[in-house]
Amino acid sequence: MKYYILFGPPGAGKGTQATAMVEKYNLNHISTGALLRKEIAAGTELGIQAKTLIEKGCLVPDEVVEGMIENEFKTVTGVDGFLLDGFPRTLPQADALDQILARNGSEVTATVSIMIPDEMIMERIKGRALKEGRADDASEDIINNRIVTYHNQTEPLIEYYSKAGKYNEIDGIGTIDEVRDRIFSVMDKF
Ligand code: ADP
Repeated sequence: MKYYILFGPPGAGKGTQATAMVEKYNLNHISTGALLRKEIAAGTELGIQAKTLIEKGCLVPDEVVEGMIENEFKTVTGVDGFLLDGFPRTLPQADALDQILARNGSEVTATVSIMIPDEMIMERIKGRALKEGRADDASEDIINNRIVTYHNQTEPLIEYYSKAGKYNEIDGIGTIDEVRDRIFSVMDKF
């Protein structure tokens, strides 16, 4: 089993590129953001708690997403691997992922990081807001908070995976197809 992490700031295009990646490499796409939005739509206890945090641009507690990930690993079959999109997002989550995989004699295969500058994050998310109507895309204040959260809590993962020799960064500026081809040329190595 391959375990790929799709990494990058909010709005980098992870969701868009994930679709092409799962198809080409027969992966199961796990987006913690999408799983959380499903819980919110279903009105579950977890969803109600997550909603308030997400709509402020904050992260939900590590244990919540870790539980969701472990559950997905257990229930999905018939694939060559998993594409983790939006997870891990904090150092404790990265540590938990290593432990979950180690229990099954496995490890992270590679991290594919799509990088875009902060100015572009705002521009892209505002464009997406018009199409998708996500509550956390609705105001500049929330988007700014997500950018700050990314720099403070998620960016340290770059060093974590670089040290492990598992960090691959690609330039997220360009057309969807250009970015996709850059990703494929990295993934073809594994
Ligand atoms: P984006 O990549 O555009 O920020 P996501 O759909 O990945 O959007 O995530 C939306 C929100 O869901 C995040 O801002 C955060 O509140 C919550 N979330 C998603 N993944 C995680 C995670 N791994 N840990 C904590 N919170 C998460």
